[in-house]
Amino acid sequence: MPEDPVERAALTERLLAAFELQEMGIFDWDVASGGVRYFLPGQPTVGLTPPICRTTADEWFETAHPDDLALASAAVDRALRGESEKFSTFYRRRQEGEWRYVQSEGKVLSRGKDGRALRVIGTYRDVTAPVAREKGRHDREASARHAQARASLTEFATSLAHELNQPLAAISTNVQAALRFLETGRKGLGEVRQALLRSVALAERAADVVRAMRQVVRPEGRAEERFDLRVLAREVCDLAAPEARRADVVLRVSSVGAPVLVSADRGQIELVVLNLVRNAIEAITSAASLRRTVTVRVRKLPASVCLEVEDTGPGVDRRLGERIFDAYFTTKAAGTGLGLRLCRSFAEAHGGRIDCSPPRPRKGALFILELPAGSGGAGGVERPSKQRGHARRG
Ligand code: ADP
Repeated sequence: MPEDPVERAALTERLLAAFELQEMGIFDWDVASGGVRYFLPGQPTVGLTPPICRTTADEWFETAHPDDLALASAAVDRALRGESEKFSTFYRRRQEGEWRYVQSEGKVLSRGKDGRALRVIGTYRDVTAPVAREKGRHDREASARHAQARASLTEFATSLAHELNQPLAAISTNVQAALRFLETGRKGLGEVRQALLRSVALAERAADVVRAMRQVVRPEGRAEERFDLRVLAREVCDLAAPEARRADVVLRVSSVGAPVLVSADRGQIELVVLNLVRNAIEAITSAASLRRTVTVRVRKLPASVCLEVEDTGPGVDRRLGERIFDAYFTTKAAGTGLGLRLCRSFAEAHGGRIDCSPPRPRKGALFILELPAGSGGAGGVERPSKQRGHARRG
């Protein structure tokens, strides 16, 4: 501060104007006594004297939102103990009956011999308006994304309905043929049996289509819940276990120790993972691979979560490329070609993605599902796993 009173007054005036412009208050905290002196922006100054308020640190923190308090006071405590010189906190504070968002930065001005802070000064800013603007923008973008995803899912469901006609017509033809064989006695029971078996396979295919449709056009929309992706992966492997046993394939889940939380429609994600696991088992079976393992890997990425399904089959034919994600594209005699298309629709409707890794020498296929991480930390409450009905793929 300048010695000269005129210069001092000029500097004070400029500082006050700057704080006013930034809508910023300042505080001066005497840590030993707990007393805090502060002034908040927007309050009329008397000449060059801002209206100084007094409180205590305890009183100040009493007004903080309980959910934000632990994080904010941890940052302050680190600075008080000497682990940092500055702190930055963002929390909600109750003010005149409503919650306001506050951004506060502080700096330790002096410390005692034991290193503990004696005096802290800092700034305080009410950021409720910019936070509300940002939240509004985020909500608008999210609802536009959902509307778009919903529109494409509905379009997809319509085309699935058309797809139903084909197996139904084929069932009718096969059953009529079986009846004729029986009536005329011209063909043996073996032929009748074949026609009926074909009908059963076609009926299963039709049922798959119906199941896919149900998932896509659920009238109540997506039932979002928060759950641990590791638990879901294990449940899906339990569902697919009988199929894996029949195919002599070992199913493995590999995951990190901590919960991997997502907020998503559990039924849809279950269907996606089941699809990938079944495709993997079928790939190993079709190629009669010697190594017969499917590994489901769950892990956290910096801002998302990831589930990989890797198999020891022949890998996806490199000539097929992205076509495997097209609706009705299949290389299997009894395939619907809907699985991966549906997986991709579901992943994208959740703001995520699903991809197949490029072919890798002497390795099977690797499918990667990535979803936005569920809000909240690893300590969040998660729904206990419950035994579900046998979900089939669509
Ligand atoms: P479907 O299983 O009915 O054929 P999908 O959409 O699930 O339909 O799969 C499309 C195609 O992608 C399959 O027919 C197959 O050629 C290929 N594919 C899918 N998963 C694998 C895998 N794990 N390994 C090799 N190819 C695969």
